[in-house]
Amino acid sequence: ICNAYLLASYTRPLFFSMLKQLQLIISVAVEVPLNLKVPLRGYKSSALYKWYIMWHRSQTSRYFFKELIWSPVVVPKGALVLDWVFADGPPQQAIVYDNNNLQDFHAIVPKSIPAELYWVEEEQKIYRKLKEERHLREETARAKAEKTASMKALTKERTLRTFLLSQKHIVYTDPLDVQAGKTVTVFYNPANTVLNGKPEIWLRCSFNRWTHHMSPLPPQKMFPSENGSHLKANVKVPLDAYMMDFVFSEKEDGGVFDNKNGMDYHVPVFGGIVKEPPMHIVHIAVEMAPIAKVGGLGDVVTSLSRAVQDLNQNVDIILPKYDCWKFNNVKDFQFHKSYSWGGTQIKVWFGKVEGLSVYFLEPQNGFFSVGCIYGRGNDGERFGLFCHAALEFLLQSGFHPDIIHCHDWSSAPVAWLYKEHYRHYGLNKARVVFTIHNLEFGANLIGKAMLNSDKATTVSPTYSQEVSGNPAIAPYLFKFRGILNGIDQDIWDPYNDKFIPLSYTSENVIEGKRAAKEALQQRLGLKKADQPLVGIITRLTHQKGIGLIKHAIWRTLDHNGQVVLLGSAPDPRIQNDFVNLANQLHSSHNDRARLCLTYDEPLSHMIYAGADFILVPSIFEPCGLTQLIAMRYGSIPIVRKTGGLYDTVFDVDHDKERAQVYCLEPNGFNFDGADAAGVDYALNRAISAWYNGREWFNSLCKRVMEQDWSWNRPALDYLELYRAARK
Ligand code: ADP
Repeated sequence: ICNAYLLASYTRPLFFSMLKQLQLIISVAVEVPLNLKVPLRGYKSSALYKWYIMWHRSQTSRYFFKELIWSPVVVPKGALVLDWVFADGPPQQAIVYDNNNLQDFHAIVPKSIPAELYWVEEEQKIYRKLKEERHLREETARAKAEKTASMKALTKERTLRTFLLSQKHIVYTDPLDVQAGKTVTVFYNPANTVLNGKPEIWLRCSFNRWTHHMSPLPPQKMFPSENGSHLKANVKVPLDAYMMDFVFSEKEDGGVFDNKNGMDYHVPVFGGIVKEPPMHIVHIAVEMAPIAKVGGLGDVVTSLSRAVQDLNQNVDIILPKYDCWKFNNVKDFQFHKSYSWGGTQIKVWFGKVEGLSVYFLEPQNGFFSVGCIYGRGNDGERFGLFCHAALEFLLQSGFHPDIIHCHDWSSAPVAWLYKEHYRHYGLNKARVVFTIHNLEFGANLIGKAMLNSDKATTVSPTYSQEVSGNPAIAPYLFKFRGILNGIDQDIWDPYNDKFIPLSYTSENVIEGKRAAKEALQQRLGLKKADQPLVGIITRLTHQKGIGLIKHAIWRTLDHNGQVVLLGSAPDPRIQNDFVNLANQLHSSHNDRARLCLTYDEPLSHMIYAGADFILVPSIFEPCGLTQLIAMRYGSIPIVRKTGGLYDTVFDVDHDKERAQVYCLEPNGFNFDGADAAGVDYALNRAISAWYNGREWFNSLCKRVMEQDWSWNRPALDYLELYRAARK
């Protein structure tokens, strides 16, 4: 361009925007800078200063100067800063601009204002700008928190409705939300119950967990309803009801009852003048996330407690005070009391963890000052003392919990210590609930706790059936059931996840996952390509189906897909085996396969978000969290039909009806056999679906994200269980 135009004006841009001015010397000079006396005090290392010096040098270099174009600018009085850009024509006609990469060029007009004042003003301006930026950030964060809360509330409400509808094939009410003071119709279908084929069905109804002063109401005969399958009866709900309770019988005076296997049927009543009194639930456990966590037990203790507390119940946790705990996560920590038991002094500390009240027991014999949670030769003795001390603490403190909930072999002794001793000493109100998270360890202790607990659970319905033949379990099936674990929806939340590049909900899942996939490919050095990506996040142990994992890696590569595995093996032989596989893949498929043989929580978030599929081919799986987390991030699970995997993943081709029973839509791919053909069956269909029907696949991602795999539903089930235990 021969004829350059200088478009200048006089405003007050920020000092920082001058950083790029060196370019000026090479292209064009203006007259104004000749007179510049830039206030340099304290700014000698700034880019402006360097530019200023160079500019002066350029004046003495004739050769350099010759190259420059001149353009006089008259600086008006009162101007503080000169701003300019260059163009190939006058205003309105120019096409090409040099605007310094959108920042324009700027120079301070000297002597227009005293230097001190100038910098004071600059400072104020920067302060104002930062304040505005902060305000904007806070506003965005507030709006985000509001959206998060409203999404959570909506999901919770939807889940409650699903919960109420989940027994619709047997019982439901019209309206579904029963209102105090109104009449409600109870519908009942005896076809799937013990009352199947009985000529008459009688409804026996009460309120407030059978405690209402007007109840139980006289038995009512039920009549056929319009829908053909159900019988119906009307009930007037009193104003002071908070719960409607009912069972069904074959005769007016009894005979055979359907009482839902001892649980009775319960429907919450809304809008009443009396609220349900909260229960007091005490967990006695040896792990609690995030302060003392080794595995899933720690997660369940914290997130189940939080979910039950959110349902307006009173929850306390008793935990050993380990020297190796993560103290940073304990708030309001204080000494509570001290007592003597088992020949040792026990100090009790109190603190808040994730909003939960926790009592920490510290026996002065040093049992929990050994640098680890498990793994000392005397774990049984240490935890035995803890269980005993915990019950002693409840007794001595005058606590009267409704429920004492203990977990796995480590706090199993609570069940029989309570039944054999403490029940007789004044802690008599409590019922004991025992949960098995892992039947692999301590079967003897687990069996003894099964015998002594009032109710027992494990972490999924299918796993509860799978272990039902075990001698530790078999005699107690009448009080044993499976309740699914949930995931913590605050920790696993693609809308508020600092480890992924773009926050997303089901509304923008496709963009969110695309950004995450690209970031993952970039981070792991994989080819940036639109190929189906299979993620695997796991402990590498026999349980998790090592052979099937390896097979799936090769099969995915055959299909021109990408694979990312994040996993670590406690057994060095297995770890070595995978190191060899990683090396082999490095040479053969470096741009499409990456094995990260370590434990890396942030990377796991990236994989959940960036993968199209998460593969979980476990040989057995009590519940499994990875498939649930996958769905929360809109990734499609491919799983083996075992334990909790079977209960949570419904095959798009085969499980429509099974999903419907839970008011769900199919959400993934599954397979039966623990062999290569099994994996192939699900993996081939999954990858073909990705290649052949992207729109359908995208809608599946959206759908799985909208399913609720949090603690909302399991907490309701636990509450029912606690109530049933108290009956
Ligand atoms: P298990 O408790 O039997 O290992 P689950 O599926 O119940 O299996 O829980 C596994 C949890 O551990 C999930 O939260 C998963 O994301 C996490 N996880 C497993 N392996 C890794 C790893 N190598 N790095 C990060 N997180 C992992």
